[in-house]
Amino acid sequence: MNKMILPGATLGMLGGGQLGRMFTIAARTMGYRVTVLDPDTLSPAGQFADTHLCADYRDPQALAQMAQTCAAITTEFENVPADTLRHLAEHCPVKPSAEAVEIAQNRVAEKTWLQQHGFATAPFAVIATEADLAAAAETVGFPAILKVSRFGYDGKGQVRVADLAHAQLAFADMGGEICVLEKMLTLECELSVVLGRNEAGEVALYPVAENIHDAGILDISIVPARVDYDLATQAREAALAIAHQLEYCGVMAVEFFIVDGGRLMVNEIAPRPHNSGHYTLDACLSSQFEMQVRTLCNLPLGATEQHTPAVMVNLLGDIWGNSQPNWAALLQYPQAKLHLYGKQSARPGRKMGHYTCLNESLETALALARQIRAAL
Ligand code: ATP
Ligand code: MG
Repeated sequence: MNKMILPGATLGMLGGGQLGRMFTIAARTMGYRVTVLDPDTLSPAGQFADTHLCADYRDPQALAQMAQTCAAITTEFENVPADTLRHLAEHCPVKPSAEAVEIAQNRVAEKTWLQQHGFATAPFAVIATEADLAAAAETVGFPAILKVSRFGYDGKGQVRVADLAHAQLAFADMGGEICVLEKMLTLECELSVVLGRNEAGEVALYPVAENIHDAGILDISIVPARVDYDLATQAREAALAIAHQLEYCGVMAVEFFIVDGGRLMVNEIAPRPHNSGHYTLDACLSSQFEMQVRTLCNLPLGATEQHTPAVMVNLLGDIWGNSQPNWAALLQYPQAKLHLYGKQSARPGRKMGHYTCLNESLETALALARQIRAAL
């Protein structure tokens, strides 16, 4: 095992969104200094960083400064150019590796890797031309979802298509980007597993989360998932196997679809902490962000035990309207923990924050979560 990087050292974060912000808070709480690279002057993570390099992810000067000053570097989103990770890795440890991020940032590479390594995915076809679409109509069928292969997130860059004509229009709208056409599955539920893996290959898995989406965006995570033990175990084992086979270092998440009476399919891999793991901030001994610090710095892995059942609800820009949501309706409950990301403008579909309801009874936590949502 490499030497521990101890508090006082400077850690680099590529990306300044809410995941970077929560990493930065965890790292600074533990006494590290944090440098965030993000082109947005108002980035959520930049507000908490010791240093915010406001530059592009390929900016040579900014990368040189990170290489010189950071003891180790990590990322919060999969769309950081893999070449940036590769370049920085010549100067200091970078976790996760460019190779792992490269697979996760491209749906074609990701699904191909998963199938080659024996993990079931939804049936899909690679769409580079209109002719590919006609062929995919036979192999994949409709209804289906056309997903852009790169730079999609939170359901953006995805269109549900009913037939070939609809798919052709949607593909034309993607501006020539390579896409995948994925069979629309009837989902029984969606699960995810967040884990931390270190250089020695040790893994700590968090409990399985049950995720409810709305319009392709995560809405609610319920943890522990209300599924039977065997299914939860299968999900944990698949996530563990993926992490090992990627030789992954850092925090990652695997999203699963459950179909046909309990069959597991991998939806996607996130090479970073995950929205469905935000409950760990309030309900686990070590949060997923502390885990990211620990794996980055070669500290012993965090403790993933959940001390209280939890329900996390995302706060999207939609509920802002012309005024702030009714925070008092939430803050009156000490069992409800509010996390806002410091984003300036509330746009529809934009993740502005989340709250987590905690209770010994998961049903009670869920009821409170719903009651608060209705009052906000
Ligand atoms: P995120 O960044 O939130 O993970 P994303 O843009 O990468 O989202 P996906 O994870 O591919 O998108 O899809 C978002 C959601 O859309 C899924 O969690 C699921 O609810 C729904 N979805 C995606 N693909 C399918 C499918 N093949 N069949 C049924 N539902 C699907
Ligand atoms: Mg997803």
